[in-house]
Amino acid sequence: MLNVTVWNENRHEQRNPVVREVYPQGIHGAIAGFLQEAGFNAKTATLDEPDHGLTDAVLEETDVLIWWGHLAHDEVDDVVVKKVQQRVLDGMGLIVLHSGHFSKIFKTLMGTSCDLKWREADEKERLWVADPSHPITEGISEYIELEREEMYGEHFDIPAPDELVFMSWFEGGEVFRSGCTYKRGNGKVFYFRPGHETYPTYHNKDIQRVIMNGVKWAQPVDRKRPVYGNATPLERIAVKN
Ligand code: ZN
Repeated sequence: MLNVTVWNENRHEQRNPVVREVYPQGIHGAIAGFLQEAGFNAKTATLDEPDHGLTDAVLEETDVLIWWGHLAHDEVDDVVVKKVQQRVLDGMGLIVLHSGHFSKIFKTLMGTSCDLKWREADEKERLWVADPSHPITEGISEYIELEREEMYGEHFDIPAPDELVFMSWFEGGEVFRSGCTYKRGNGKVFYFRPGHETYPTYHNKDIQRVIMNGVKWAQPVDRKRPVYGNATPLERIAVKN
């Protein structure tokens, strides 16, 4: 069984009754809930817990970490960010959702500003499948339609993704690379755009399916890690004169 930790800053939920109504258990609770129902061993962690709920023990046993943050990126301790980065390089999967594009961990792993255009105008979003053989799109039709979402538009300042899985169109005319995968060290990273806090996006079955597919795709590979540094030859090297 895969161990998933769903991390959320959990601030909008405390301040905004609209968000509380959409996500009574918090965004983290909603995501962990559908993962548990599907048989994943999903737990939650939030910003205000000691070590933001991401102790060494928690990180050590996490196969895939899901990240939702927005208001409080700066409050995430650099020490914790460094530890999460190291776990990704060691093989832990990471799924960064929506406004997590500006999180310290995503910016650290990408090395770019990760900036974008945005607008809150109750727009329709259509996420087109751009990679139909990708395991993250399993069970998804040609596109996913969300009646209302926040707009994120290009240019999205990220490194060229290893794989572009979804491409979004918005009612107002913009497009956005909304499903992107990366490999970093031994780990895999999936950025998935939808999930503005005032919309019921994480209750949408297709969105849930993509996140579950993402968790399976990002799980660590069970193998010995590469060895670095000075190496003894495997074969005898002929003496050249
Ligand atoms: Zn948002």
